[in-house]
Order: sequence, then C-alpha cells, then structure tokens
Amino acid sequence: MRFNRLRLNGFKSFVDPTDLIIHEGLTGVVGPNGCGKSNLLEALRWVMGENRPTAMRGGGMEDVIFAGTSTRPARNFAEVALVIDNEDRLAPAGFNEADTIEITRRITRDAGSAYKANTRDVRARDIQMLFADASTGAHSPALVRQGQISELINAKPKARRRILEEAAGISGLYQRRHEAELRLNATETNLARVDDVLEALS
Ligand code: ATP
Repeated sequence: MRFNRLRLNGFKSFVDPTDLIIHEGLTGVVGPNGCGKSNLLEALRWVMGENRPTAMRGGGMEDVIFAGTSTRPARNFAEVALVIDNEDRLAPAGFNEADTIEITRRITRDAGSAYKANTRDVRARDIQMLFADASTGAHSPALVRQGQISELINAKPKARRRILEEAAGISGLYQRRHEAELRLNATETNLARVDDVLEALS
C-alpha cells in the first residue's frame, strides 16, 4: 500500500488547502520550529482513524480544527484526504474497485467525524481495519514521533510485543476477536432467554 498524496484543509495550522505529494522512497520533512512538521504526521495518523485526542496533542478531537489567529478567523471544519496507490489491486474487498483509493476524514464542530472511501461513506472501523491489515495505520511503528525511540527502549515486554504485532499486520485480528466475543456473549444471552421462555411454556 503506497501513499501518493496527503491533502489538508483547515487541519491545525494548515488552514489553506495544502497538497503534499509523497514520492517513492524515504520522505523527510524539514523546516523551522513550529512550522507544522508534527502536524503533518498527525494529519496522517488522523485520517487513518486515530481517535485519541491526546495523540493529536489536544484536549478534544475538535482541537484539530484551525483555531484562528489574530488575522484569520477560526474554521468550522477540518478535512484530511490520503490518496493511496491501488494499482496492484491488493486492497480488501469493499475498497478494491479503483486504481487509487482516496480516504477522507472530515470533522465539523459539534457534528463529529465522518469518513469516505472515494465517494462512499464508510465507518471509522472499516478505515482502521484497512490500515491495520496493511501493517500501517494510526499506531504504525513506521510513524516515529519525537521521544518514541526512548519510550521503546524503556517499554515493558508487553508493549514491545504490541509494536511487533502492528508491524506483522495482525493487530486487526484482536479487534475482530473482541467483536466476535461480544456477538457470542449476546447470542448466549439470547439463548438463555429462549430457554426461560420455553420453560415458562412447558
Ligand atoms: P518543532 O520543530 O518545534 O517540533 P513543528 O514543525 O513540528 O515544530 P508543529 O508542532 O507541527 O511544528 O506545529 C505547531 C504549530 O501549529 C504551532 O504554531 C501551533 O500554534 C499550530 N497549531 C496547532 N494546532 C492548531 C490549531 N488547531 N489551529 C491553529 N494552529 C494550530
């Protein structure tokens, strides 16, 4: 799964529409302090389904919306789009209908986030699974934020194992197992209810 471009509009300091073309190979972002390098990386995590405001250095998710400056008013929404190359058609069913997939996440004040894959509305979970299965995503070890290496060195073995699982692309399986367990529990509750009704009838 190759990322081709990242488009930002109203996301943090990127108030004006910004189109970042991601070429093949290693991409480095350089610039003076405070110019928005970390915001770019956060936009990438965010469009892949990050749902912890703290991971966006904010108190609430709406903090990703451009908050205004002395010369420009705040915006009402933020949008990030990630264009993915799918020429090899390796994307899972439901995402595999075109040579490129454009994943868009938009947050509107007081209305929360909505996701699209090309022009189709999709759930946050579908997006998170798409990237988890491709060994990337909001928690991918390929995105290294400041201080992360020393955290890794000091991490407990369990936390290190999670990183290996993300890299191996199996972290989506945990989510699926959890959902299967919830369905199983609900079915067992229904069965117990049926037993009660049968007993009452006999
Ligand atoms: P450093 O090199 O110091 O780590 P950086 O290039 O990574 O800096 P960022 O941390 O990405 O810079 O950007 C910080 C800038 O983004 C600050 O000027 C901050 O005011 C601005 N910013 C963050 N959130 C918002 C927001 N919601 N609205 C407007 N500006 C924001």
